[in-house]
Amino acid sequence: MAIAFRCRCGKLQGEIEPAAAYLRAVCYCSDCQAFARALDREQDALDPNGGTDVVALRPDGLRFTAGREQVTCLSLSPKGLLRWHSACCHTPFANTPREPKLPYVGVLASCMAAGPEALDAAFGPRRIALGTASARGEVAATPVRTTLGVMRVMWGVLLAKLGRRRSNPFFDAATSQPIVEPRVLTREERAEAGRVR
Ligand SMILES: [Zn+2]
Ligand SMILES: [Zn+2]
Repeated sequence: MAIAFRCRCGKLQGEIEPAAAYLRAVCYCSDCQAFARALDREQDALDPNGGTDVVALRPDGLRFTAGREQVTCLSLSPKGLLRWHSACCHTPFANTPREPKLPYVGVLASCMAAGPEALDAAFGPRRIALGTASARGEVAATPVRTTLGVMRVMWGVLLAKLGRRRSNPFFDAATSQPIVEPRVLTREERAEAGRVR
């Protein structure tokens, strides 16, 4: 069964197929924290330790069902990941590489319209912790699970490429360009977003 996601105000809506998921992980890295902070959405997107609960999946497993014109993105640096959010209410909802040739999207569990049990059932529990050096408070690293998780993502990406699953709702199929021009944060904005509170 598809899991719905939506921005805070509800204009932007979509759904993802659990079968397309590679992995679920909680990322505590400073960049993911900066993304939430740049949008002033730390309360919604981050757990008390600054972690972002992310489900990595094949991009063809995600579709927008309403408000696609609200989809926009920023980047923390000129070569950084594209960090997708809604224009209407600044809800962070996904991360992708800058090009579609790597079939990967990380969707934030915080925007999914499902309770904790439904998320666990669809994607497995939160058992992998990434970027724990930047966590607020004590968060145990999960080196073995992380290594296995990275391998699972690589394997999934490889299968997706072999299976020619090319549809990717974040990029124009003809030009391979992002569907909106990414806004790259200025150094000042990045410094502000990265400030530890
Ligand atoms: Zn909205
Ligand atoms: Zn991160």
